[in-house]
Amino acid sequence: MKLVNQVKLVFSSRSINEGFARAALAAFLVQADPTVPQLADIKTAVSEAVTNCIVHAYPGKAGQITLRAALYEGGLVKIVVADRGVGIADVAKAMEPLYTTGDPEERAGLGFAVMQSFMDKVRVTSKPGRGTRVTMSKQLEAADLRQ
Ligand code: ATP
Ligand code: MG
Repeated sequence: MKLVNQVKLVFSSRSINEGFARAALAAFLVQADPTVPQLADIKTAVSEAVTNCIVHAYPGKAGQITLRAALYEGGLVKIVVADRGVGIADVAKAMEPLYTTGDPEERAGLGFAVMQSFMDKVRVTSKPGRGTRVTMSKQLEAADLRQ
């Protein structure tokens, strides 16, 4: 699997940067010629991961979010969203649909479920007090197979 191109973005966990992350990622992925639905899927999944860092990782303060995107030969896209925030004690439980530690008025507990349904693979690693890392991948369909 040959790496074609990669970017790394580091930004503050401010909600305005959710839109920045989506737009920057879309601009990077244009070179892979994704279909509109594929691009929408990846942007949605990344939005959820970045929003989680903004909402949950740094309660009461702003911290650092790192977004890495890599493009491999054949159209495989790999994305890593990482923070150095509070971390998650029980990742399996946090990933259950409808589980949330947030305000139930605002949070549905569906962010991880959305990431899993829109990407091929989602892996979450976390250490309480050290931070959380979400690694996601999706295979883009080959451009010459498309109508
Ligand atoms: P929704 O995404 O539907 O608004 P949510 O963010 O609570 O709600 P998930 O995205 O599925 O739902 O996350 C589930 C739970 O995992 C969160 O409530 C939070 O406790 C924990 N969590 C997720 N991401 C992080 C993170 N980066 N740092 C700390 N805790 C996190
Ligand atoms: Mg969420």
